[in-house]
Amino acid sequence: MGRVYRTLLLKYPLEKLQPEAVVQMLKVQQEFHRWAEQWARSGGKTPLPREEPLRRLAVGFVQAASALGWLRERVFKRGLKPPLAFEARLGGGKDAGGVVVDLRRRVVEIGEWGALPLSEYAVIRIRKRVKEGAELVYAAAWVGESRRGAALYVALAFRRKAEPIRPRRLLVVGLNAQRDGVAYAVVEEERVLERSVLRPDVDKIRHLRKVISRLEAACARKKNPRVCQRAASTKSSLLRRRRLWEDEAAEKIVRLALQYKAAIVVDASDVSEYFDFGRLKRRVKGLAGWHGVPYREERLYSAVCPNCGGETEEAPDGRVKCQCGFSAHRDEVPIAWAQKRFKELILSFSPDAPESV
Ligand SMILES: [Zn+2]
Repeated sequence: MGRVYRTLLLKYPLEKLQPEAVVQMLKVQQEFHRWAEQWARSGGKTPLPREEPLRRLAVGFVQAASALGWLRERVFKRGLKPPLAFEARLGGGKDAGGVVVDLRRRVVEIGEWGALPLSEYAVIRIRKRVKEGAELVYAAAWVGESRRGAALYVALAFRRKAEPIRPRRLLVVGLNAQRDGVAYAVVEEERVLERSVLRPDVDKIRHLRKVISRLEAACARKKNPRVCQRAASTKSSLLRRRRLWEDEAAEKIVRLALQYKAAIVVDASDVSEYFDFGRLKRRVKGLAGWHGVPYREERLYSAVCPNCGGETEEAPDGRVKCQCGFSAHRDEVPIAWAQKRFKELILSFSPDAPESV
């Protein structure tokens, strides 16, 4: 049984918070960053600060970073400043220094900085995590820039035990910009059990883009605040629409993998004009981990023939051909590769296999 984590991100525009609490929090954050910078430069050798609340924040950060991959990535790979981190729990009443989520009062209490309201969406998500047998273990908070100005972000990290599934099939997911969608197929040895393509509403996205560029041009020309505001709000609604689609696609993929007891193999080489492949991959990976579904990114080249290993040629209609006689649409080639490499890929997902092939 492995421990898996899943994070819920809450966002509070700074102008909606108590000004004194914000000032205090920024001050503590600055002091904490000073310590954290030294600590990171020393390779983790700088001693913990002696004084509170810095000491508690440093302990919280080190603990949370050892458990949460996204936090390590954020701080050590992307070089972003470390957030304030706390132990967290569900419950009621005050807790010294930690974060307490109170579902009855619909608030999250962050140490001495007070209580922030929980949205309906957040409450539903938290209840779902609890129902899945997860507990709230850490919380991280930071002030950062959002598209609409500075905001306080609060990340709630839930943990549960998940039994990894032993895959019997492969769910091959191809992120393909040429067809503007997610092509998937469930493969079992030679057979393809189910296949389809998930597509965002490209026409709607194109239409919204036209509206946005018209509004932005009018905003620049006339400097009419109402037009400018409409441009900004149409832009946000387009982004929300795209993200919603990515979230739904990720959920659908992981649900299929669970249903078929399949490991997920993602083949992505392109970038899409209409949605964010990177974000979609992170979603699928995170969700797969939460449900114990094995996940891997693997190039299943359409330019290499799965039959003989020779170089294929692609016709303008998207069909690829090889001299050996192999011929298929370019979207089919990764599936043919998964069929050919089925045993090797399935074996690589077994618990005693090396990390990568
Ligand atoms: Zn060939």
